Amino acid sequence: MSKNLTKAIDEEINKIYPEIIKIRNHIHENPELSEQEYNTSEYICNILSSNDIEFTRMKKNNGICAVIRGQDDKPCVGIRADMDALPINEDVEWAHKSKSPNIMHACGHDIHTSILLGTAIILKSHSDNLKGSVKFFFQPAEETVGGANSMISEGVLESPKVDYAIALHIDPSLDVGTVNLCPGPLNGASTEFEVKVCGKSSHGAHPNMGIDPIIISCHIITLLQSGLTRKIDPIQPSLITVGQIHGGSKGNIIPDSVTFSGIIRSLNESNIPKIQEIVQNICEGTANGFGATIEITFKDGYPALTNSEELFPFIKSSCELALGESNVLLNQAPSLGCDDFAYFSKSVKSFYYDLGCKKRDCKTSYPLHSTKLDPDPECIKFGIQTQVYSILKIMGEL
Ligand SMILES: [Zn+2]
Ligand SMILES: [Zn+2]
Repeated sequence: MSKNLTKAIDEEINKIYPEIIKIRNHIHENPELSEQEYNTSEYICNILSSNDIEFTRMKKNNGICAVIRGQDDKPCVGIRADMDALPINEDVEWAHKSKSPNIMHACGHDIHTSILLGTAIILKSHSDNLKGSVKFFFQPAEETVGGANSMISEGVLESPKVDYAIALHIDPSLDVGTVNLCPGPLNGASTEFEVKVCGKSSHGAHPNMGIDPIIISCHIITLLQSGLTRKIDPIQPSLITVGQIHGGSKGNIIPDSVTFSGIIRSLNESNIPKIQEIVQNICEGTANGFGATIEITFKDGYPALTNSEELFPFIKSSCELALGESNVLLNQAPSLGCDDFAYFSKSVKSFYYDLGCKKRDCKTSYPLHSTKLDPDPECIKFGIQTQVYSILKIMGEL
């Protein structure tokens, strides 16, 4: 029974594949930055309409929530694809290179969107036999403000109430035709901070006449690393990175102030407030010791992304059925990178996995966010297969 079903689905995927490739090429040629995905969103709506798939446009940004209603609302599974591009100039010469200078789908979101459209089209043709419902989140602004959060605020997880959410991301280090899965904690929670060290300007030859914010900032920045290793459990991966520092105008002038900013990440979300306290105390204590003052601000980033142990066997067996057991790797390492799918994972049981897109004959595969990212489009076929199978598996139909 399930063998007949998978065979029928595979044939349907092969049938729509040329059309999905055209969709991907169109999106890749016409990339749009985060919060500006107007044409991409319009284009997706047209495809949903022409396939008779119900959808709602979000009020904020350019998100779309489509739904396919089965015999019942429950279970309801949501699938997320992000659709924004990056401010990067594409450096790959091919027929469908970006037509917009300095904008490129360098994180594969064109592929994610195409996979989600393909998945929706296939599931639409099976909607009469679907036990539950499926929602499709075409999400804006993954790379910047966390479009997932605004979609959730607009109620995409309600009516019908979403029980589970899944998403995938291309991985150029993995061979096309493979996936990599990791149950449990996957991505860290994040916060940003900015510190202004306020000293007192003076001539560089008379530092005693001023309060030097440069030397104070140097002490603070190195002390932050020590504070982290002495105060946070070393077996709970956490980091502080200062990625920006600005101050001064000339080599012989001690400036009034220095500003630096950075990120805090931890795989354990509960560490974030503790690390903020470390940053606050070290900044204040060090500055005070030199007679300076500080102004510090923290900006909340994405929550931690945790893959549901309950969903893991469903996703694993679906991927094995689609790609073969040996092509399902279980060594996706947790990382302190982040993806705003974390907002879904914080709200409902979720699973996020990596989809291989490295070309088979390729010796150098460039990473995500590279000007030379060149994924194998065949990963789209495998992505549709694993997503459709996963939905059917969760619904108990495979
Ligand atoms: Zn990215
Ligand atoms: Zn991405």
